Amino acid sequence: MIGKTLTQVAENLVVTIEYTLLVGKEILDSSEDEGPLEYLHGYSNIIPGLEKGLLGMKVGESKKVVVIPKDGYGELEKDALMDVPRNEFPDDFPIEEGVELEIMDDDDNIVLVTITEVGDETIKLDTNHPLAGKELNFEVKVTGVRKPTPEELDHGHVHMEGHSH
Ligand code: ZN
Repeated sequence: MIGKTLTQVAENLVVTIEYTLLVGKEILDSSEDEGPLEYLHGYSNIIPGLEKGLLGMKVGESKKVVVIPKDGYGELEKDALMDVPRNEFPDDFPIEEGVELEIMDDDDNIVLVTITEVGDETIKLDTNHPLAGKELNFEVKVTGVRKPTPEELDHGHVHMEGHSH
């Protein structure tokens, strides 16, 4: 197998994609703004539905991948509300309805939450991800596939240039 070129998305390979994410007709995210995305396939670096859709794609191939909530940011939960005392917010924090912020949950995971109600002493947060319950439409193009470095494979994620951890 010496000299075999990698031409297809498979487990344990670093994949480069160009993508556009649409919800309804609205473009929410695009590699045109942030540059192509590199990820390590098979390590949940990207949402499960997109990773599944990319498996087996060839370099140069484009495709539409529809991701249902279950394989994206989860179903919308009605009771995902949380009360936080106002004094736990930094003094200069803009406490307003609709503001999104990141908090640490009980398992030390960073969760994106939205302020839904501002009281005098208590702030109500919705812990649903803003994209929970939404069908995600990705337009993706695979632009490259390479072998990870041993360190990347060991860490389970891609190391960008000038960045390692
Ligand atoms: Zn690392």
